[in-house]
Amino acid sequence: MPIRSVKDIPVEGKRVFLRVDFNVPLTPARGIADDARIRASLPTILHLRDQGARVVVASHLGRPKGPDPSQSLEPVGTRLAELLGDEVLLTDEPVGDGARKVVADLREGQVALLENLRFHAGEEANDDQFARQLASYADVYINDAFGTAHRAHASTVGMIKHVPEKGAGFLMLKEIEFLSRLLGSVERPYLAVIGGAKVSDKIGVLESLAARVDKMLVGGAMASTFLAAQGKPLGKSKIEQDKLPLARAFLKKAQDRGVGILLPIDAVAASSPEDMQARAVSVDEFPADAMSLDIGPKTAAAFGDEIARARTVFWNGPMGMFEKPQFAAGTFSVARALAGNPRALSVVGGGDSVSAIEQAGVTEKISHVSTGGGASLEFVEGKLLPGIAALERP
Ligand code: ADP
Ligand code: MG
Repeated sequence: MPIRSVKDIPVEGKRVFLRVDFNVPLTPARGIADDARIRASLPTILHLRDQGARVVVASHLGRPKGPDPSQSLEPVGTRLAELLGDEVLLTDEPVGDGARKVVADLREGQVALLENLRFHAGEEANDDQFARQLASYADVYINDAFGTAHRAHASTVGMIKHVPEKGAGFLMLKEIEFLSRLLGSVERPYLAVIGGAKVSDKIGVLESLAARVDKMLVGGAMASTFLAAQGKPLGKSKIEQDKLPLARAFLKKAQDRGVGILLPIDAVAASSPEDMQARAVSVDEFPADAMSLDIGPKTAAAFGDEIARARTVFWNGPMGMFEKPQFAAGTFSVARALAGNPRALSVVGGGDSVSAIEQAGVTEKISHVSTGGGASLEFVEGKLLPGIAALERP
């Protein structure tokens, strides 16, 4: 079903409600730790401003239970104003007399930012009363909040039916374009590289990808559960004992389908995440008193070869505990391999994976780095996200 682009909707003089995902990490001093999500929606905001819209930007931040000054969008508004080189009017609450007045007084090309939507319980409850209040600020509704599209909240779903016009912002359209390509017919070999903490977090996406890809490379803590499912003792490694039957069933199904599942052949082992004496060991001779905290160099090389030959790659989940330099080599080597294959369509999704790509300094060399964590996984799993479905026109 077609979704209208913000570019095709006349907005001059109109009040445009722009839902963005400015759920950025804050520093302890309430500064912005990473403004990537703010910059990601800048093209849409600039477009609306330059078209002479009265722009009402709205987002959630964190998980406040009611109004909470420590979760105010104020630092976000300040950063947005710096990036725009223009004033941004922050309302003192998401809805109410103050917000209504700021919106009513907006001039063409002016930008307001509503206070944190989650200060009101109606946001997550998708309460119709709250949705109508938000809708009363808008002639046009635009959603650019891909990272929140898997949630049916008042600002992502509920309010839309109360606004005359709807469409998607540039970021939302770009996310849909790239992630949809992974669901259609792509150039092969098609690889999925999956890692991260838990099999249980990712079983849905693992199963759905296994039906589409040629090969799946598995690393991270989740690989330990798969190796344990194959009967390999991995010492003190993090293993989801209760997921071993699930892991076994998954491996069996993949084998029946002819999908190659590549598990690590070696690992970086240490007595604990604090241990600086990490060493590479074969997964067949894993020391009983150690745990696996990264894929080993032989695995990284094998994964690198596969990635170099691929034409389409989706990556989610770090290969190890990459936050610690002694366990980051595997993840960074996968990031470099992906960046070193310019012929492949490469897509990376997942909060920690994206931050690994950034730390590796290769973001520019990846076809698409998704701003969504849970949303990109659900999309790649083939689920229809409520925030996207609500934008579709009959
Ligand atoms: P994403 O956010 O990209 O979806 P996840 O949240 O699933 O990724 O997993 C990332 C986390 O998994 C990181 O915090 C990383 O430290 C952890 N992790 C990955 N491999 C291991 C491992 N072998 N042992 C312990 N933790 C791991
Ligand atoms: Mg994560």
